[in-house]
Amino acid sequence: MPIRAVVGAQWGDEGKGKIVDLLAQYADYVVRYQGGANAGHTVVNEHGKFALHLVPCGIFNPRAVNIIGTGTVIDLDELVTELDMLASRNINTDRLRISDRAHLSVPSYSRLERMAEESRGERKHGSTLRGISPAYAAKALRLGIQMGELKDWGRFEPKLRELLTACDELLVKLYDGEPLAADKELIVERYRAYAERLSPYIGDTLSLLSDAYTQDKDVLLEGQLGTMRDLDWGIYPYVTSSNPLPGGACAGAGIPPQRITSVLGVVKAFSTCVGAGPFPTEQDNETGRYLREVGHEYGATTGRPRRIGWLDAPALRFAAKLNGFTEFAVTKLDTLDGLPTIKVCVGYKLDGQSIDYMPLTADLYRVEPVYEELPGWMQPTSAARSITALPQAAQDYVRLIEGYLSAPATLISVGPEREATFLK
Ligand code: GDP
Repeated sequence: MPIRAVVGAQWGDEGKGKIVDLLAQYADYVVRYQGGANAGHTVVNEHGKFALHLVPCGIFNPRAVNIIGTGTVIDLDELVTELDMLASRNINTDRLRISDRAHLSVPSYSRLERMAEESRGERKHGSTLRGISPAYAAKALRLGIQMGELKDWGRFEPKLRELLTACDELLVKLYDGEPLAADKELIVERYRAYAERLSPYIGDTLSLLSDAYTQDKDVLLEGQLGTMRDLDWGIYPYVTSSNPLPGGACAGAGIPPQRITSVLGVVKAFSTCVGAGPFPTEQDNETGRYLREVGHEYGATTGRPRRIGWLDAPALRFAAKLNGFTEFAVTKLDTLDGLPTIKVCVGYKLDGQSIDYMPLTADLYRVEPVYEELPGWMQPTSAARSITALPQAAQDYVRLIEGYLSAPATLISVGPEREATFLK
C-alpha cells in the first residue's frame, strides 16, 4: 500500500485540498505534517464545500484516522472552531488524533506577527497573520509548549501563564505594542475548557504510524503551501516557517524516509501566488484579471486576491529536483479553456544570460522570463473524464508539464468537484 506525500509544486494554493480529499477516500491514515491554521485547503465533496485549516482532509472518510502531526503548530481557538463547524455539518471527528509533540500556538503569536509585519512598513512579508512564525520561533527558542502538556492542567497552566507573560514583554519592549493584559485570564479560562475537550485526541502518533506501515496501510501525508514557500528552499523571507517538502513529512509526521513510496506533486496549470515576494511570470494585466475571475483565485484563509502568472518551468524543474516527484496531479486545466494562446515560461535570464538554477530572492526579482507561446484549446474541458476526451492542445500541455517534472501526470483535474477529476 502506498505511503504517499502530496506536495505543492509551486507557490501554494495548487489545489492540494481537492487532490488530498480525493486520495483520502482510499487512505487508512491522513497526516498533516507541517504548518498551522495559515493555509486553507478547499474541499468540495458530497457533504458540501469546506475550507479546512488544521484538520486533515481525510476527515470525510469514515474509515480514515486523521493525524495532526508533530511538525504542526496548533491554534486551539482555530481547531475548536473547525471541529464545531465540522460537527454542525454532521462530519464525525472521532478519528482525529493530535501528536502530543505538536506545538501550541497561543493568541499572542498572531499579535506579535501583526506587530512585526507593521514594523516592516513597505517591506512586509505578506504574512497571513496567524502567528505561525512566532510559534515556530518559540519552538526553536525552546520556549514553546507541546500539545501533550495540555493533558496535565496543573502543570500546563503556570507554563501557559509564563509564555503569555513572555509574549507580553516582547509586545511591549520590542514593538511598543499593547500587552494582552486582561485578555490573558480569558485565554487561560478558554484553554482550561479546551484541555478537557481536546485531551482525548492527543497522544503518541508515532506508534499509530509505525503500526500503519508495518501493517501495509495506505497513508497519505498532506503538505501545506508549496515548494516555493519552503523555509529552506523557498523565496526567503517570503516563506513559511516550516518545510512543506517530503523531507519535512519525515520529520513532521514521523516517517522514515525509505517508507515513503510516492511523492505526488500538485501543479496548477498556471501559477498563483499570495502575498509578497518575487513572482517572475506575474501577469498584472487583463489576462491575469481574467484568470483570477474564471479561476476564483482568492485566498481560502484571507480572501486576498491571488497574484496570477503563467506556468513557470524553471520553478517546476526546481521543485522536481527538491521533491523527487514520482507522479503529479494537474489542477485547474479548465481555467485555461477560454484563452486563444497560452504562454509558458521556459527559462530565466539574469543580466542577459540564461541561467539553469533557481536564484536567491534578490536575483529572482530581476530575472527575465523567457516565454514560449502555445495555441490554446478554446473548448470547455470540465466535462472531460479521460485524457483522450481533452482537446489535443490540452493533452499536449499536460505532456509538456510531464517533461518539466520528469514524472507522469497521474491525475487531471478540470473542476473543483471531486468528480471533475480523472486518472491519466
Ligand atoms: P490548496 O491550498 O492547494 O488546497 O488550494 P486552495 O484550496 O487554496 O485553492 C484551490 C482552489 O481551486 C479551491 O477553490 C478548489 O476548489 C479549486 N480547484 C481545485 N481544483 C480545481 C480545478 O481543477 N478546477 C477548478 N476550476 N477549480 C479547482
